Amino acid sequence: MTDHPVTADPLPVNTIGGRSDHSGCLASRRPVSDSLATLNPAMSTRSARPSASPARLQRENTHDEIYEKIYVAILEHRLHPGTKLVEERLADIFSVSRARIREVLARLAHEQIVELYPQRGAYVAKPTIEEALDVFEARRLIEPAVLRRLIETLTPEKLARLRRHQELEVDARRRDDKRAVIRLSGEFHSLAAELAGNTALARSMRELSVLTCLMIFLYDAPTTTSCRADEHSQIIDAIAKRDAARAERLMLEHLNHIEGSMKLETATEEVDLESIFRG
Ligand SMILES: [Zn+2]
Repeated sequence: MTDHPVTADPLPVNTIGGRSDHSGCLASRRPVSDSLATLNPAMSTRSARPSASPARLQRENTHDEIYEKIYVAILEHRLHPGTKLVEERLADIFSVSRARIREVLARLAHEQIVELYPQRGAYVAKPTIEEALDVFEARRLIEPAVLRRLIETLTPEKLARLRRHQELEVDARRRDDKRAVIRLSGEFHSLAAELAGNTALARSMRELSVLTCLMIFLYDAPTTTSCRADEHSQIIDAIAKRDAARAERLMLEHLNHIEGSMKLETATEEVDLESIFRG
């Protein structure tokens, strides 16, 4: 992302609060320990450092709250890729200083969710097709490793958390709560990585997840929704049986389904200009 030319046009430029009927995001960037406390970002692990003074805690809570709201808006496709995030308006909306907004935007930029352009400001990231293909390649390498490690270290508690998460996902589907489905289906992948217990893998997974979220918005076929519920439950069943080979195979199939549902063909084929303009 950082090698985007600064001249890259971030259009279409939507406005904050733009709505979308598009669903199909699979991603989650937040630590999953926060996932069930969406409405209470103060519980975020980032703000729970024991060394933080009350004043600092307060500052961080506010920072986390703003971060969380922007993050969730992107995750739920209420804030689209390419949307300009106007510092001044955000400062107004959240009743904080522009400096505070800049801090949050810098954090989002560090996580590749937002792109910063000198003189032009911050925009919700728009991963290119090449970046999207790279993300799937990386996910195919990382997620089987995540499952292997999760199965090696599996405990009844970890399995119970996966099952509980799955129940929430099924329930959200039953209620046809699209935003919850989008969020929860993405968080399944982050939860698996977190439970696997390798922080480097979990961090990579979260980054890849949020990029996937943005990619799906940009390149998803209109008919696609989020992760298929039955595929997650089959993966959990394989984990429960400690059948690593099956779990890995199911995950790869799952990722292939997601990638297959996106339009990621690069426009490299020769175009017959003659037939376009003279036909
Ligand atoms: Zn999934």
